[in-house]
Amino acid sequence: MTDEIKKLQEIIDNSRNIVFFGGAGVSTESGIPDFRSVDGLYNLKYKYPPEQIVSHTFFISRTEDFYEFYKDKMMCLDAKPNRAHIFLAQLERAGKLSAVVTQNIDGLHQLAGSKRVYELHGSIHRNYCTYCGKSFNAEFVKKSVGVPKCTECHHIVKPDVVLYEEGLDEKTVRGAVNAISKADTLIIAGTSLAVYPAAGFINYFRGSNIVLINLSSTSADAHADLAIKGKVGEVLSQIKIKTD
Ligand code: NAD
Repeated sequence: MTDEIKKLQEIIDNSRNIVFFGGAGVSTESGIPDFRSVDGLYNLKYKYPPEQIVSHTFFISRTEDFYEFYKDKMMCLDAKPNRAHIFLAQLERAGKLSAVVTQNIDGLHQLAGSKRVYELHGSIHRNYCTYCGKSFNAEFVKKSVGVPKCTECHHIVKPDVVLYEEGLDEKTVRGAVNAISKADTLIIAGTSLAVYPAAGFINYFRGSNIVLINLSSTSADAHADLAIKGKVGEVLSQIKIKTD
């Protein structure tokens, strides 16, 4: 066991109210590409840059191109929760973790069994008709040919995902900020902390320990009590969950 893992074990043993704040890097070990790693989506070559494709303007003006990218690269319906998702669900069941705040849209925390998950950027699993509001699941969208259309009124179906230029859901933000502000330990992992306003929510933390687990450096490294450069699933799977 390395000194870093020992310190992380100690912090988790002594914490009563942990909040986990994560991003796309939490799901790379499940085979879902992130945006900013070397093999992430920003470094692949598309007709349009990914940040432009997943924007509101692009969705409205080039809906077909949006869906081609989104279905192919962002809807990984066969992905399974990895060791990070599973550990966090166990930590919640053990009464030590109060919430997961995620920028991910893949639903893998819930699939692993986590109950309190604040999805800041929505979910690929919720989709609705832009005209009549009818709901559709992810399979419906993924299997649709071209742009998915409502089975009732034939208008465009949109994912309940927060695209660039769109606002975050207020209730989700309130819940996430409230959880972070009450936590005694904040674990930040698998995020470049480059997407705002989400990245700014970590500033509401008032507790004792900030732990960072990330493959590359982030703007929060300097404020962390413990910064581990590594894979989040690999790191967390070395921790034993002890209950009192
Ligand atoms: P990002 O791509 O900007 O950054 C990912 C970070 O995670 C990088 O710093 C990278 O070094 C690190 N990383 C990658 N794999 C890791 C691992 N196994 N362990 C530890 N660190 C790892 O991601 P972001 O900060 O979440 O911002 C991207 C935006 O794109 C978010 O808003 C998110 O909603 C969205 N997105 C979501 C998914 C998903 O739902 N799985 C996938 C891609 C993008």
